[in-house]
Amino acid sequence: MHVPPLPNLTVEDPRVAELIESEAARQHDKLRMIASENYVSPAVLEATGSVLTNKYSEGYARKRYYEGQQIVDPLEELAIERARALFGVEHANVQPYSGSPANLAVYMAFAKPGDTILGLGLPMGGHLTHGWKVSATGAWFNAVHYSVRREDGLIDFDQVRDLALAERPKIIWCGGTALPRTIDFPRFAEIAREAGAILAADVAHIAGLIAGGAHPSPVGHADVITTTTHKTLRGPRGAMIFSTAEHAKAVDKAVFPGLQGGPHNHTTAAIAVALKEAAEPSFRDYAAQIVKNTRALAAALIDRGFDLVTGGSDNHLLLIDLTGKGVGGKPAAQALDRAGIELNFNTVPYDTRTPFDPSGLRLGTAGITTRGLTEEHMPQVAAWFSDSVDALIKDDEKAEARIAGEIADLLAGFPMPGWSRV
Ligand SMILES: *Cc1c(COP(=O)(O)O)cnc(C)c1O
Repeated sequence: MHVPPLPNLTVEDPRVAELIESEAARQHDKLRMIASENYVSPAVLEATGSVLTNKYSEGYARKRYYEGQQIVDPLEELAIERARALFGVEHANVQPYSGSPANLAVYMAFAKPGDTILGLGLPMGGHLTHGWKVSATGAWFNAVHYSVRREDGLIDFDQVRDLALAERPKIIWCGGTALPRTIDFPRFAEIAREAGAILAADVAHIAGLIAGGAHPSPVGHADVITTTTHKTLRGPRGAMIFSTAEHAKAVDKAVFPGLQGGPHNHTTAAIAVALKEAAEPSFRDYAAQIVKNTRALAAALIDRGFDLVTGGSDNHLLLIDLTGKGVGGKPAAQALDRAGIELNFNTVPYDTRTPFDPSGLRLGTAGITTRGLTEEHMPQVAAWFSDSVDALIKDDEKAEARIAGEIADLLAGFPMPGWSRV
């Protein structure tokens, strides 16, 4: 049963109510290890499900186009103030609908179509919006890509600098979706300065670690910072853009009227709640625990013969190269899902297989850390992980079902925020 329950939905649209309850049960019973996912608090859920969804508020506080903003103005200002205080930034825009539109706003603010931009290639752990060809950012801009090094999986800063000086990009992106190591923001800043480029740090994955003091901050190094609010930061689906005061106007104009219409006020409220939660001391413990859990899981997986890109992790994320196991990432991800471990197949750097059936798996520990698992549980998680891959190799469906049952039994002792089985 939902906490709070869904009495109206159950009557008005039982089919949707039933689907939501089923999804809640699924989230409850599985080790959710998709690196970009988490569990939000009941308070964040309540704000997301509020009547603020009824209100249109195009513009910014005290510069709106419709009347009736007496409540929304201070609400948005509260979210902005909390973001500025938590991250120590001069300017925050909390209106982007999600991470991809936030990144598009950075292009709108600092470049023109056809301009050169530099980002980490998608197969190397970058994001689509860092100029990958199939994305609007790759179609509309002249995107050049840097890589990680073949030998150690770390960012190739010699290449970043060479490309930056040769290509003179308007924007250099740092950050990514499959980087298990600390991002060296000062080093990127030095290169951007030398090349006369705007440094954009996309911290979507690690914003919660930064807020919780478990990863260095790009503040003071990057000209503009984008982040989703729903990954390690543990807020609603949404995004924020931070900048120095110098770039505040350009950022705001790019979001509205450049790209978007009315902000999603229910999301703004939920972002404000998540930022309040992230400023509490317990959030620092959560961020530190994420890193401890990832390290413990990495060690346990290495013990079981798994090959980790970069040899381990500094953050919430592991990238596993299955080449030595002789199985592809896709069948492995599907087998793990059947066994109650939810993650995604992923390319590894210099992958020899195809993007839709690559050699790797990506996982993250934010969700299971929110559930309350600690490093003591990680050897067991690694054992289930390893047994699931073995079950795939041996075509052992019984083993998969056994593991799924054991996982659900363990998780019954770790409450899920927002839902419980009654
Ligand atoms: C998740 C992510 C995004 C995109 O966020 P969406 O909300 O899915 O649009 C952008 N950049 C990075 C690095 C991400 O990890």
